[in-house]
Amino acid sequence: MADGTAFASDALLDYDEALAKYEPVLGFEVHVELSTRTKMFSAAPNPAAADSGSVEPNTMVAPVDMGLPGSLPVVNAQAVRYSISLGLALGCSIAETCRFARKNYFYPDLGKNYQISQYDEPIAFDGSVEVELEDGTTWTVPIERAHMEEDAGKLTHVGGATGRIQGADWSLVDYNRAGVPLVEIVTKPIVGAGAAAPQLAKAYVATIRDIVRSLGISEARMERGNLRCDANVSLRPRGRERFGTRTETKNVNSLRSVERAVRYEIRRQAAILEAGGTIVQETRHWHEDTGTTSAGRPKSDADDYRYFPEPDLLPIQPSAELIAELRAALPETPTQFRRRLQADYGFTESEFRDLVNANLLVELEETVGKGAAPAQARKWWLGEILRIANSRGVEAGTLVSPLHVSELIALVENGDLTDRLARQVLEGVVAGEGSPEEVVKARGLAVVSDDTALTAAIDEALAAQPDVLQKIRDGKVQAAGAVIGAVMKAMRGQADAARVRELVLERAAR
Ligand code: ADP
Ligand code: MG
Repeated sequence: MADGTAFASDALLDYDEALAKYEPVLGFEVHVELSTRTKMFSAAPNPAAADSGSVEPNTMVAPVDMGLPGSLPVVNAQAVRYSISLGLALGCSIAETCRFARKNYFYPDLGKNYQISQYDEPIAFDGSVEVELEDGTTWTVPIERAHMEEDAGKLTHVGGATGRIQGADWSLVDYNRAGVPLVEIVTKPIVGAGAAAPQLAKAYVATIRDIVRSLGISEARMERGNLRCDANVSLRPRGRERFGTRTETKNVNSLRSVERAVRYEIRRQAAILEAGGTIVQETRHWHEDTGTTSAGRPKSDADDYRYFPEPDLLPIQPSAELIAELRAALPETPTQFRRRLQADYGFTESEFRDLVNANLLVELEETVGKGAAPAQARKWWLGEILRIANSRGVEAGTLVSPLHVSELIALVENGDLTDRLARQVLEGVVAGEGSPEEVVKARGLAVVSDDTALTAAIDEALAAQPDVLQKIRDGKVQAAGAVIGAVMKAMRGQADAARVRELVLERAAR
């Protein structure tokens, strides 16, 4: 029986079959690291800020972040403003008054033994977000709350095979992240997505990322942990009112993984239910390499953290003027942004959808903003850059900056690079060799536009192929291809083929 149970818990039901019998219900908790200059409750620099780069462990820590005796927290006003802006962008009501609360638990990454969070009085509540799926259909995701809290430190478990605490020889603690300002956005249960649930999951997280980016309140890089998603999934038999038991898959840290994790949980839970089993309410770990989840810790709805109002902090009471000011400063929504770009750039529906689905609109806009033509920017992002990104399993936007892409395009437009050379330059830029200009110099990749060098190579090639020369002179211009090929080879591809062709015909006619 024990063996049977173990087998059943890893079995997967076919996705379509699972969806025919069960309706998935989703819920997301997304943590956003705010990029304020200093931390949530101390004056220590914030490692999640835009310009902090890579930082030595335990060098950005104030006494408050470790909960040293006698130290007292002070609320970061900028973090409160950012949180209100985010709440407004999520269509939430902003609390006239709200408090922080202590969430008590022990863990070595939490020096104080409690996290300052918000509990029954979040700063923002009752909102909704419009989310667009890959096929262009839109969904409204209901938002329960967005509350402020502080991050915990970071543990590194050394010596084990998995990087988890089990089997590790020792663990290291880095308190730099302790006290980084967070907003946790919690959705209401999302019902009715059916087979589109995994896609909706991905689109929702992508939308949150786009919103915080457009607000400029977070670096929003999932691979760096600026944006972290816990995905709650449950199934209920079709036609039943009551929700099933949920699992909470923690820290799913890429858009693609969010989609895969939800799909996996649907299939796993369906297999258990089909076999007559019950779902355990628990947290689960996502394994990027295998595309599977595994059991974490059991979790009941009544987990008792002994929350109580934080006695060291005053309630937050944002004035109506402040809220109005922040509301007036809200950027366009991701939907408005998409509509504007589509209108401005004149792409066809399907050209545009490719960009949306590859999540490259922001990159595209910035590249165009730096001077590139929209069609060229689209070509490079969706072509070579996306190809490299896919082959490495990373997001295209992390490989190269819009500025560098626009510089690369300018080099091609000016005739300094052919497309082929430009791809090599891009490779260098992606490898961290510098700006396109620097890579051109370092790798010696510029187009040979010096006609003297070209003519010399052409004359040599013509002399080596007298039969071809004769054919060209007889008017068989297609024959020039062989000579052009030889010249391009001699120039190691660093010549503009059209110019070479012109010169070949010119020299042959002499
Ligand atoms: P917890 O503290 O246990 O993580 P939260 O309220 O912070 O609880 O988040 C729970 C998330 O799961 C919310 O997004 C909520 O809407 C969602 N949720 C609640 N019940 C279910 C369910 N049965 N199936 C799927 N999602 C659920
Ligand atoms: Mg939670």
